[in-house]
Amino acid sequence: MEDHQPMLRDNALKGKTYVVTGGGTGLGKAMSTCLLELGANVVITSRKYDVLENTARELEQSTGSLVLPVACDVRDYEQVELMLQAGLDKFGRIDGLLNNAAGNFISPTERLSANAFSTVIDIVLKGTANCTLAFGKHWIKEKQAASVLNIVTTYAFTGSGYVVPSACAKGGVLAMTRSLAVEWGKYQIRTNAIAPGPFPTKGAWDRLLPGDLAQKFDFKNRVPLKRVGKHQELADLAAYLLSDYSGYINGEIITIDGGEWLQGAGQLNGLEMIPEEMWDQLEQMIRNKKGSV
Ligand code: NAP
Repeated sequence: MEDHQPMLRDNALKGKTYVVTGGGTGLGKAMSTCLLELGANVVITSRKYDVLENTARELEQSTGSLVLPVACDVRDYEQVELMLQAGLDKFGRIDGLLNNAAGNFISPTERLSANAFSTVIDIVLKGTANCTLAFGKHWIKEKQAASVLNIVTTYAFTGSGYVVPSACAKGGVLAMTRSLAVEWGKYQIRTNAIAPGPFPTKGAWDRLLPGDLAQKFDFKNRVPLKRVGKHQELADLAAYLLSDYSGYINGEIITIDGGEWLQGAGQLNGLEMIPEEMWDQLEQMIRNKKGSV
């Protein structure tokens, strides 16, 4: 992550515990770092325990706060329940859930198998639903106030070609965010979402811009501010929305994209420029890199 200082004051989240899905890598790691720097405990969870363990060790050292790595495939409800229990056993209570785990890759939709389509829906939409349901049931039973923050994307509301399973899944998460904000408001469970624009990470860039597509399809040119996002800018927003400082914000989808979606709705529609014959080569590159599907 870039050199930074969190926006909130020191120890603003002292005594709080948050669960971050996909917290071992990329933006999940950046947001976890910020929560820890503000004094919170964090449970980071995803499928690859070795990655989580390394991140946990690194972040405990750099922040001095406590990190619990828990292996969990969010597609499996039983694993989600066990992950929640592991967090409760370690920290006693959980104050917020950050649904960040996702799977995605570019492809013309007609080239997708039904299975590939389902896998993205299972991770993004059902995975978010599984976590939200398990945690929500727990909080309602315990009569505990809490905060859910979902990471969507700007094409959740614009739609986008070439990432249709992801667009469908994120659109579903957006609907879940607004629906539960109303239904669970009475339990003092707030539900919000962030729609990030381009924030370079290895995971997203390997699957969305393989090979020299990163140069050919430079996201900076799509953004009115002519730059990509800084991880700290996203992490500050996430920490605020999870914290009690945003206690009256409920059901909001906050876009953080430098104005990108307003400039050209449909983030990946520009992949139209790729000649048909190049897709075989690109598919091969993605197959070699991807771990989620
Ligand atoms: P990333 O590093 O690839 O993060 C994805 C994470 O999800 C990984 O840690 C992965 O860990 C985890 N994951 C995947 N499948 C899972 C499963 N079945 N169960 C549990 N965890 C699973 O990519 P990122 O760029 O940081 O993306 C983070 C979030 O930001 C995603 O929701 C993405 O859609 C959103 N976003 C990113 C951008 C961007 O520009 N980077 C823009 C808009 C939205 P394992 O492989 O260990 O399971």
